[in-house]
Amino acid sequence: MKRCPACAKRFNSVDWQCPACGNEPTKIDGFLAFAPELAYEGNGFRHEYFEELTRLETGNFWFETFVNWIFGVVMKLERIMIRLGVRFPFGGSLLLVARKG
Ligand SMILES: [Zn+2]
Repeated sequence: MKRCPACAKRFNSVDWQCPACGNEPTKIDGFLAFAPELAYEGNGFRHEYFEELTRLETGNFWFETFVNWIFGVVMKLERIMIRLGVRFPFGGSLLLVARKG
């Protein structure tokens, strides 16, 4: 069951186009945005900061080492949980962790 954010009509459909008013949520970067006006606002994060952050992180020895250490700890915890037989609600794990370069 879906509810149209424009006219509040409830409908069942695979896609999000409302059969009553034709409204369809816009997509931002391939994801449905039910409140596109808020997509780039809120919580003090500005999307233009991410480009600068990515530029600063790339090649920074301390940051890459720290991130890889965090990923390593998460991978170890995940292995321990799997060995102990901890079951997740679905699938083998909800975590996907990779080391950066
Ligand atoms: Zn509608």
